[in-house]
Amino acid sequence: SPALYVVPTPLGNLGDMTQRAIEVLRNVPWVAAEDTRHSAPLLRHFGVTAHLLAAHEHNEEAAAQQIIVRLAAGESVALVTDAGTPTISDPGARLVARVRAAGFRVVPLPGACAAVTALSAAGIEAPHFLFYGFLPAKAAQRERALRDLASLPFALVFYEAPHRILASVAALAQELRGQRTLVIARELTKVFETIHVGPLADGLAWLEADPDRQRGEFVLIVSGAPASDGADDEGARVLRVLLADGLPVR
Ligand code: SAM
Repeated sequence: SPALYVVPTPLGNLGDMTQRAIEVLRNVPWVAAEDTRHSAPLLRHFGVTAHLLAAHEHNEEAAAQQIIVRLAAGESVALVTDAGTPTISDPGARLVARVRAAGFRVVPLPGACAAVTALSAAGIEAPHFLFYGFLPAKAAQRERALRDLASLPFALVFYEAPHRILASVAALAQELRGQRTLVIARELTKVFETIHVGPLADGLAWLEADPDRQRGEFVLIVSGAPASDGADDEGARVLRVLLADGLPVR
C-alpha cells in the first residue's frame, strides 16, 4: 500500500546514506524535498529518478494536499530535507500529521541526525537529554529561553549556525547554573570535523583562539545542572512546571 517515507539524508558524508534510504528513494515515484535544487545532485548521485516536488515550511499545507493526492492514486512519496532527519529542526511535521490524518501510512527510516551523532561522541553520562534545537536569534529571547533551562538536570542539545556561535556559547556560559561540561561538535562527518569537550566557562575562549573553530555547522551539548547545585529547589520547581505543561519549554 502507498506510504509517505520519511528519509534521512547525510549530514555531509555521502557514505552515511543508508542502503534502505537508497532503495526507498529509487522505488518511489515522488520525492518531496525541502529544497529541490539542493537535493537534486544527491538524488542524481544515488540514481534516483523520481519526480520532485517542493515541501518546505512556507508551502507545507499545499504540499500535504499534493502528496495526499498522489497517495490516494496509489503512489508512494518520500520526504527529504537538505540534511539529516526531516522534521528535526526541519520542516515536515505538519505534512506528516496531515498525511496520517488522511489515513495513509507514514514510514520513518532511521538515519543521520546531527543531535544524536554529536551525543554519541559527547561522553556525557546522561540518562536524559533535552533536544532544544536552535536558540532564539535575539539576545533577550535567548536569555529568557536559557533561564528556563538553567536548572534542568538533563543534558541540553542545541543547534547553531556559524554567525551566532560566539553569542550562543557566551549566553550558555552566562545563563546556565553550576559547573558544566560543554561539547562543541563542529562539521560532523565532514573533513574538518572537530569535537571539543571542556568546561562550559572555557568554551568562548576556545572558539576565539582560532577563527577556523567558528566556521561550519555546530551542535552544542551542555551537561545537565548538577544535583548538588544551590538551585536545587528552583530546579525541581521548574521541572515540575515543565513536565506539567509538557516539554519543550517557552
Ligand atoms: N534535520 C537535521 C538533523 O537531523 O540533524 C538538522 C537540520 S537544521 C536546519 C541544521 C543544523 O543542524 C545546523 O545549523 C547544525 O546546527 C546542525 N548540523 C547539521 N549538520 C551538521 C554537521 N555536519 N555538523 C554539526 N552540526 C550539524
